[in-house]
Amino acid sequence: MATVKAYAAQSETTPLAPFSISRRAPFPHDVVINILYCGVCHSDIHQVRNEWGDSIFPMVPGHEIVGKVAEVGAAVKKFKKGDMAAVGCLVDSCRTCANCSDGLEQFCETHSVPTYNGYEMDRKTPTYGGYSKMIVVDEAFTLKVSDKLDLAGTAPLLCAGITTYSPLRHWKVGKGDKVAVAGLGGLGHMGVKFAAAFGAEVTVLSTSASKEHDARRLGAHHFVVTSNQQQMKSVKRHFNFILNTVSAPHDYDQLLGLLKTNGTMVVVGVPPDALPVSAFSLIAGRRSLAGSLIGGIKETQEMLDYCAQHGITSDVEVIRIQDIETAYDRMIRGDVRYRFVIDLNSL
Ligand code: NAP
Ligand code: ZN
Ligand code: ZN
Repeated sequence: MATVKAYAAQSETTPLAPFSISRRAPFPHDVVINILYCGVCHSDIHQVRNEWGDSIFPMVPGHEIVGKVAEVGAAVKKFKKGDMAAVGCLVDSCRTCANCSDGLEQFCETHSVPTYNGYEMDRKTPTYGGYSKMIVVDEAFTLKVSDKLDLAGTAPLLCAGITTYSPLRHWKVGKGDKVAVAGLGGLGHMGVKFAAAFGAEVTVLSTSASKEHDARRLGAHHFVVTSNQQQMKSVKRHFNFILNTVSAPHDYDQLLGLLKTNGTMVVVGVPPDALPVSAFSLIAGRRSLAGSLIGGIKETQEMLDYCAQHGITSDVEVIRIQDIETAYDRMIRGDVRYRFVIDLNSL
């Protein structure tokens, strides 16, 4: 067991503050990672503030982790001391059910173990995330990181990256598709980069007119401000595919109205309340409304390798852990360009 410095919330109403956690001594298949950077996902805010109603306290958030291997268990094959390594949203699962066998550990039929705000396979040891100096994870859930990529910009790939890559791949988005990305935050800006890299014609749907220049720099071909009636009218029944990354309640029917016949809107953003959707928005044009949750381990590695090959990383603003509450406030205001990443040297 090792005692490790971390930042934790003690309850849904207390700010994050310094905290000590214990990490297990490595089992034969474990990798011990000294965390260098951890991205700040909007899910961290939802969970720290118990907006989804399932929070476990004390909570050490963080599931966009990159670091350096400090030690490996005797049976570890993929890593050695000194390698770069990454951990995303999952640290374990049953590994034998149909979904785990298909590389869809996020949908494990028995029990998948989230990196934080969950319990290990023993169902009683709480998991603590990347707002900490060190983590111990089985090599089967530890990802390889290319040394070609900027490390701070790589951290957000572990959630924002895979959560947008996976549905774009599943729905086979590519050349000839007109794709919209709703919400230009952490997930949204990765969605734009991937959709553009896959050859689609990309439009950003945003509440923030000030993000237009960035959207185009990130690879978008068009930019629509959702409060501008005229601009919205110009993209009615226009898209094959909408990737909806919005983190707060908004008008889903308005966005569904932008889909062509047979178009699909995939929801990845998780506002706390149930989605208000009119059946008319779906039956008109035989539209589909779907969802997607992160991605499995194999696909996460595939995404990281794709990023290394194509030089794709996240646009980040590196912060000290002491500034985490300010970062949360700014994210809630939509003021993020486009992912905050904690430098764990500050802890
Ligand atoms: P983020 O960086 O805060 O970005 C969210 C963006 O949504 C904002 O930048 C803003 O973009 C837009 N937005 C915010 N409030 C809005 C409102 N009231 N109306 C319309 N648009 C609004 O958040 P994120 O980290 O990308 O996460 C986005 C959502 O995805 C969160 O709910 C998170 O929990 C969820 N998530 C889901 C998965 C999954 O597996 N499905 C994984 C990770 C995260 P504009 O300024 O462009 O409007
Ligand atoms: Zn996340
Ligand atoms: Zn399983």
